Amino acid sequence: MADLNTDVRFIKGIGEKKALALNKLGVFTLHDLVSFYPRRYEDRSQYRPIALALDGEQVCIQAVVADTPRLTRVRRGLDLVKFKAVDDSGLVNITYFNQSYVKDSFHRGEEFVFFGRMEVKGAHRSMTNPVYEQEGKENGVTGRIMPVYRMSAGLNQRAIVQAVRQGLALCGDQLPDILPDSVRRRCELAPARYACENIHFPADFGALELARRRLIFEELFVLACALGRLRRERVREGGIPIGQADLGEFWRTLPFSPTGAQRRAVEQAVSDLRGGGVMNRLVQGDVGSGKTLVAAALIWYVWKSGYGSAFMAPTEILAEQHFHTLSAMLEPLGLRVGRLTGSMSAKEKRETRALLRDGALDLVIGTHALFSRDVEYANLGLVVTDEQHRFGVEQRSALIGKGGRPHVLVMSATPIPRTLALIIYGDLDVSIIDELPPGRQKVDTFSVDESYRARLNGFIRKLTAEGRQVFVVCPMVEENEELAVPLKSAEEHAKELQAQFPELRVACVHGRMKAKEKDAVMAAFVDREADILVSTTVIEVGVDVPNAALMIVENAERFGLSQLHQLRGRVGRGQHKSWCILISDADSEDVKARLSIMTKTSDGFKISEEDLRLRGPGDFFGSRQHGLPEMHIADLGADANTLQRAQHEAMQLLQEDPELEKEENALLRERVEQLFRENADSFN
Ligand code: ADP
Ligand code: MG
Repeated sequence: MADLNTDVRFIKGIGEKKALALNKLGVFTLHDLVSFYPRRYEDRSQYRPIALALDGEQVCIQAVVADTPRLTRVRRGLDLVKFKAVDDSGLVNITYFNQSYVKDSFHRGEEFVFFGRMEVKGAHRSMTNPVYEQEGKENGVTGRIMPVYRMSAGLNQRAIVQAVRQGLALCGDQLPDILPDSVRRRCELAPARYACENIHFPADFGALELARRRLIFEELFVLACALGRLRRERVREGGIPIGQADLGEFWRTLPFSPTGAQRRAVEQAVSDLRGGGVMNRLVQGDVGSGKTLVAAALIWYVWKSGYGSAFMAPTEILAEQHFHTLSAMLEPLGLRVGRLTGSMSAKEKRETRALLRDGALDLVIGTHALFSRDVEYANLGLVVTDEQHRFGVEQRSALIGKGGRPHVLVMSATPIPRTLALIIYGDLDVSIIDELPPGRQKVDTFSVDESYRARLNGFIRKLTAEGRQVFVVCPMVEENEELAVPLKSAEEHAKELQAQFPELRVACVHGRMKAKEKDAVMAAFVDREADILVSTTVIEVGVDVPNAALMIVENAERFGLSQLHQLRGRVGRGQHKSWCILISDADSEDVKARLSIMTKTSDGFKISEEDLRLRGPGDFFGSRQHGLPEMHIADLGADANTLQRAQHEAMQLLQEDPELEKEENALLRERVEQLFRENADSFN
């Protein structure tokens, strides 16, 4: 008796060689086999009378062999078998190339179904190498939607199709339904067996859709349950206790009112702080959405309970900027604010460290120097990290180890579609700031080609004459990259610009410079010691240069939309009208469509959703090296709605049964644990 764990060799027609080929595709057992979903489908379900089939159409025809097949040897290595077939409507000439054995399969007067591409030339109709099956001896390859599988050497479609058919026949009825009944009903999902049969051999397109919906949901649901359990496992007790404070007291000190989204993010974080556990929250908001204020409010909040905070920025210059902003905001309220960066003198550092050890600072701002081994904190309650995507996971956990278990607030300006954020930051709670402070100017954006260069230079001249500064970004060139069209490297381009504008000061930052050198050039630019800053994407992070009014991106086709959006966010931060010019000579319609999205919207979330739709989630995951388990059928980008639903259902289920201990969740639990086992790397 075969069951789901039986080796695929058990299947008739699968010998050693085919079994090894299947193993290469990850198929070892019958369960693997029936879970080996088709890559696509071929529609062989359409029947046509011969005379009505259109030229080029792939159709089935039901026809009678009208003469005796003739074998012709055209030359060595080229055989033809030819015959005619007819139905009530007309006649078709059928030809098989190099399949001389088929000659004996067809006899005059026998009825067949042929599937293939109809060719029509005037009154002449023909089909070449059609798939066929004789009336009364069907083996299920015509008249239906056929699966097409991923292949490896040593296999062919027919072998896989037959193997899967047998697999389903042998143990289709043993397939466990891991979805709890209640979830399946509520979400109107097909039962497991139906889904599995119809994903391989769908009765029709409706059935295929039902099957896909169920299986995609199942995959995402299991992932969501796994991530949900991780989140729960995160220490739920032992968080530093933070008492109640009146946020209104803080808000009233501001020269403006917080936006609704800022208020919401702060309130969500406060409920974490007061919930008894350790906060681990991501605040996601577009550039300029006011994330710093959210951090300030929370720093103030924990200070009211007698705890200090550490604020970590990815670069010295950002640390300096945050130091100025935050001390201006918080010192008047009584907080003692200090800083700790790599470029401070040894003496200054020593002094700051002493203050921290004595609990004489309520907030310290710095780079990762904050978390070097010789820094001790007397009363660290909250750690804020800005622009989190610049930090490795390791750094994050190193800092969490400092002085007990401080609450953690992570801020990121990379807008990721909500649904995806929930998955990517599986172990973080997420707040989204989806509202900009009022009165923001839109950055006018244009997508242009080289022919615009002269006008652009004129524009640079005009703006710089008015005292504004200009960013120019060039793509990073990989060392061994072969390029059809040479790219502008930042250094060369800076030289060209300097030659072009001898009266202006052109500075350059590129990837091969040391962090210190980069920071020095950036700092000089902030201090208006240069008019034009040419760089690779190193300026992507949130440096504030309110005087910059123009962002030029060279070879814009090389950037993702979200990246372009980040770059554009570097301008329009002061009171000056600002522009963003995307230069690309790429002809491709795709590129044009992509860049035109930038000219039409300034909503970072909308842009990231488009980016996701156009490029798939690989970039989001890849660039962050968040190796999520590989999906077999779901597409994290395209199936966002299902993902959201699956997430919601998973949360609800985990609320009722956090450890998945109930009898009805046993199969699900097993599957979740299997996912953990198979992806040990991703989940650590
Ligand atoms: P982010 O870090 O999210 O890119 P910032 O925190 O640097 O944004 O804020 C951008 C600018 O918006 C700052 O100059 C800040 O003072 C201002 N700002 C923040 N919140 C508000 C608000 N609610 N109303 C008006 N201006 C605000
Ligand atoms: Mg910021």
